[in-house]
Amino acid sequence: MTVGIVGAGQLGRMLALAGYPLGLDFLCLDPAQDAPAGAVAPLLSGAFTDRRLLTQLGRRCEVVTFDWENVPVASLRALKRAHGARICPPAAALATGQDRVAEKRLFEKLKIPTTRWRAVSSRAQLTRAMADVGLPGVLKTRRLGYDGKGQALIGGAADAQRAWRQLGSVPLLYEERVPFDCEVSIIGARSTRGEVAVYPLCGNVHAQGILRLTRAPYGPPAWQRRAAQYLTRMLEHFRYSGVLAIEFFVRRGRLIANEIAPRVHNSGHWTIEGAITSQFENHLRAILGLPLGSTRARGHSAMINLIGVVPPRAQLLAWPGLHLHDYGKQPRPGRKVGHLTLVEPSAARRDARALQLLEDLAAGIGLP
Ligand code: AMP
Repeated sequence: MTVGIVGAGQLGRMLALAGYPLGLDFLCLDPAQDAPAGAVAPLLSGAFTDRRLLTQLGRRCEVVTFDWENVPVASLRALKRAHGARICPPAAALATGQDRVAEKRLFEKLKIPTTRWRAVSSRAQLTRAMADVGLPGVLKTRRLGYDGKGQALIGGAADAQRAWRQLGSVPLLYEERVPFDCEVSIIGARSTRGEVAVYPLCGNVHAQGILRLTRAPYGPPAWQRRAAQYLTRMLEHFRYSGVLAIEFFVRRGRLIANEIAPRVHNSGHWTIEGAITSQFENHLRAILGLPLGSTRARGHSAMINLIGVVPPRAQLLAWPGLHLHDYGKQPRPGRKVGHLTLVEPSAARRDARALQLLEDLAAGIGLP
């Protein structure tokens, strides 16, 4: 059975690696000839809108999924129309995840608390939004933002002018800046048969908008229960199939939704070694209508993203119990090129070792 993956980044690569033991084959589509998944699965090399390549994908695959949130929704819908291809997760979820305004409206409809916000498409609307929502705030592009790109912090009138000059050429969203105590994400899967499985909550630390550290399980049981409720509501709304993530700010014990990711998620990479079944395997099980695997944690995990460059392999692997995932990407500042995972018997030991590892990385083996 062949699974098509639109996008062949590291998420596609980890999906394929999780699928081979299940006896699955893969076919990827990506514009980059050196895309990470291309090293482990056949790659159709060309634009996401290339009709000829989409036709091949539709003909050769039983189900088509995607590993990037900015894949053109129109391409997936065309695949479905022209070839009856099964698209999982649903294109409607992808479309919502691509538009911050649609995302906010859905949070509100599903009664999932989110930030105060306004859509902004003129300088006058920005002034009104700042008055309505308050200061400080964050101005974000409605579309194509990721890892903190397409965002500007606004503390006052001068910032607003600068932010408008920087971002004002496209539709925007202005929202309150949340003075959060921490950030968390919840990840779960819903299968085509309606079965739902939710992973332990992840605690996330970002630097310059990029995820740096995830720890799981994280936070008190009340956060886990609440986040799982919200996630289940979202999964049922879309009659979803596959893995879905929701990111939250936590402020005084209250979960405030930031965004959804209708795909396997960076904060779920720890599940490869740290859970009974990884998010990648459960995504495949879910879209193929197979029974979902246990999402239980095996211990206390920490996942650290390698940004820019992978430090020398021998130095990393000298750390007892460290798992290295090198995505095979060319080094570039700000680029996610790999990750590290530690699984420890207690949260205290995990935190101490993760801190030590971060310090070692910052001291010269890789972090810019
Ligand atoms: P995003 O691309 O929206 O996920 O934003 C990336 C990161 O920027 C988040 O994980 C937060 O660390 C920070 N951030 C984004 N929006 C806000 C906000 N409204 N208030 C506080 N921090 C934010």
